[in-house]
Amino acid sequence: MMTLQEFKTKYINDLGHLYPKEECLSILQIICEDLLHWSRTDFLIRDREKINHLEEEIILRSLHQLLQSTPVQYITGIAHFYGHTFEVNQHTLIPRQETEELVDLVLREIKSLSCPAMIDLGTGSGCIGLSIKVERKDCAMSLLDISSEALQVARSNASKLAAQVDFFQEDILSCKALPGSYDIIISNPPYVRELEKEEIHDNVLKYEPHSALFVDDNDALVFYRKILKLAQSALRKDGKVFFEINQYLPEQMKQLAESLGFESKLYRDINQNWRMIKCWKA
Ligand code: GLN
Repeated sequence: MMTLQEFKTKYINDLGHLYPKEECLSILQIICEDLLHWSRTDFLIRDREKINHLEEEIILRSLHQLLQSTPVQYITGIAHFYGHTFEVNQHTLIPRQETEELVDLVLREIKSLSCPAMIDLGTGSGCIGLSIKVERKDCAMSLLDISSEALQVARSNASKLAAQVDFFQEDILSCKALPGSYDIIISNPPYVRELEKEEIHDNVLKYEPHSALFVDDNDALVFYRKILKLAQSALRKDGKVFFEINQYLPEQMKQLAESLGFESKLYRDINQNWRMIKCWKA
């Protein structure tokens, strides 16, 4: 039997070629908290304790998956986002920290509105739309995705959060109109260009759904163009569209918005990268 301290060392040694030391430790911490249901304090103070057989097996099995670059959230089946626990699997992206900033931005925008009608396009696990719905019970929230598997995950998350929302399975690129009219349209669509693949780690590249991530180098804004066109008729008076965007394409985003009759404002994320845009009819 090994002690927790020995496992910490093992994770750092075995995963050191994939992740920095601190991240190896936080991955083990996630395994202990989310799979073994330890408290944060357990992880900090149980160093000398021997780990029981069953737990040892889980920690070693997880290590095996981690060595194949499986993201820890797909091992535990959950991701933490905006203070909630979301179920995720290989049909949904793992929510990113930057996307919490999009949620914040939208929540600030709707402070002065009562009962806003909203839709989250390409919702995946539902993390954006559901986090907003939990904060603002009065809003009418719809979640839309092309993937029935993703929508299944979003439904399960909605029911765990007791969030009453509507679901739509649609392909944004081929749909002729959105299912309703909205005060706020939100989307974090695929925006990573093939040429950016080199920057991307194996854990993302090998495991996360490519249909949620990648776009053609020659038409990187295809989803934004289509959504803004749909928004021309689906936005209510004073309505707004909020997007997460590719950090390398802020100017192109502004130009696209302008060419389709929208004014816009860009926002940086916590890492100072251009990450969000708000668009409204000029
Ligand atoms: N920000 C995500 C990444 O780093 C991409 C999300 C998206 O394509 N919408 O991979």
